Amino acid sequence: RTSVVLFTGDLRVHDQPVLRGALDEAENIVPLFVLDSGVARSGFMVPNRAAFLADCLHDLDAALRKRGGRLIIRSGAVVDEVCRVADEVDAGSVHVAAGVSGYAMRREQRLRDALEASRRTLTVHDAVVTVVPPGGVLPSGSGATAKDHFAVFTPYFRRWRDRVHRAPLGAPRRVEVPDSVVSDPLPSAKSLVAGDVSPGLCAGGESVARERMRHWAAGAMAQYDDRHDDLAGDATSRLSPYLHFGCLSPVELVRVADDRGGSGAQAFVRQLAWRDFNYQVLAARPKASHEDYRSRGDHWRGDERELAAWRDGLTGYPIIDAAMRQLRHEGWMHNRGRLLVGSFLTKTLYVDWRAGAAHFLELLVDGDVANNQLNWQWVAGTGTDTRPNRVLNPLTQAGRFDADGTYVRRWVPELAEIGGPAVHRPWKLPKDTRSRLDYPDPLVDLGEGLDRFHRARDKG
Ligand code: FAD
Repeated sequence: RTSVVLFTGDLRVHDQPVLRGALDEAENIVPLFVLDSGVARSGFMVPNRAAFLADCLHDLDAALRKRGGRLIIRSGAVVDEVCRVADEVDAGSVHVAAGVSGYAMRREQRLRDALEASRRTLTVHDAVVTVVPPGGVLPSGSGATAKDHFAVFTPYFRRWRDRVHRAPLGAPRRVEVPDSVVSDPLPSAKSLVAGDVSPGLCAGGESVARERMRHWAAGAMAQYDDRHDDLAGDATSRLSPYLHFGCLSPVELVRVADDRGGSGAQAFVRQLAWRDFNYQVLAARPKASHEDYRSRGDHWRGDERELAAWRDGLTGYPIIDAAMRQLRHEGWMHNRGRLLVGSFLTKTLYVDWRAGAAHFLELLVDGDVANNQLNWQWVAGTGTDTRPNRVLNPLTQAGRFDADGTYVRRWVPELAEIGGPAVHRPWKLPKDTRSRLDYPDPLVDLGEGLDRFHRARDKG
């Protein structure tokens, strides 16, 4: 018997229930990844994520080869390609991770229908992409249907924490793949999409991911609760891209953190639960990817000049510009930076959160619809934040999270010669120093921005 393993957002061999499920059932398997024309058409395949994906596929192929197998690549419409491969090897079943995005859920349904028509089974595995699947914990007294969800994180987290998570699985020792199955070549970033990759993009793949996880768990994780907001210290895990592509299992990460214990590890686990929280919100409210989760009746401004200055890191507020340039250079931004630039765009410039979210998705290597759009909504005050009217003042925040200006000097070379916290207020520098700097004046006055926000809020 042969089973097909359809890899999706789970590009790994460790703690891989989909692979394990197929191996338990069949002697031969076909580890398949489809370069899905549907994803290509959606515009979601941008250079940074394409480069990272190419790394992941090369690494997965190497891991399978070490075990006697290989990765089979096909290109086309995903459901058609899976059925074609299943026909070629006369597979009894196809295994796949449970979808947590709208696209993945629709794919699952279409696959089920198509496979049933040819009398094959589809086995769907939970807790592969998330720790707790959407709908896996529900608010009590809500009627408890899969369309219910938690709208507030803290009660969700309590339930999430109380659940007993499955034990992580080891990697398989042997993988047998029929010789007859042909594969397209492994892709390169350029073969997937045209365009430039961020120069500081991290390398993808499970091997790098596991090395980072070990390093993180043995070191900085212990101080995560104290240091996660330190912009210059860069003391977060940077595991988000690996979680996004499934090079790491979130179930295993929770176990690793719990085994270490301590307040840093616990704070880290809490952040992992935010991922699941956002997936369950989006699964229940798919339209929240583009419509306000909670409408404020706002009338956003569409100021193209201001939006362009924000995108280019030329707002004249050094902390905002530093974060935006980190995004362009690395395809990643520190969470505190994401909060600051998001608040600045939506609450100071009063530009629609969708414009900010679209720019992030163009560049973020960890960019995913649930976590990007819902975090944007959270920042904009249209989402699940219980204090939707909070406005983050970039100067106060710079004083707290980049006290001596190191983060700004790292990312804004025009200001590299300004020592200490003075770098956060270049407009206050002595005239002759200021005039030497090739750096813009502030785009807006923060007080005016705040007035604008309050006026719009009162109207709404
Ligand atoms: P750590 O601090 O080490 O946290 C560990 C893991 O927990 C992360 O890797 C991530 O998977 C998860 N996590 C942490 N914070 C959050 C959060 N607020 N929401 C959801 N998961 C979280 N995260 C994405 O994965 N993809 C996105 O597209 C994305 N867009 C964002 C947009 C905005 C406007 C904001 C404010 C946040 C966004 N985040 C997104 C959440 C968060 O900023 C990143 O997950 C985090 O910065 C990744 O860095 P890290 O791996 O070092 O995180």
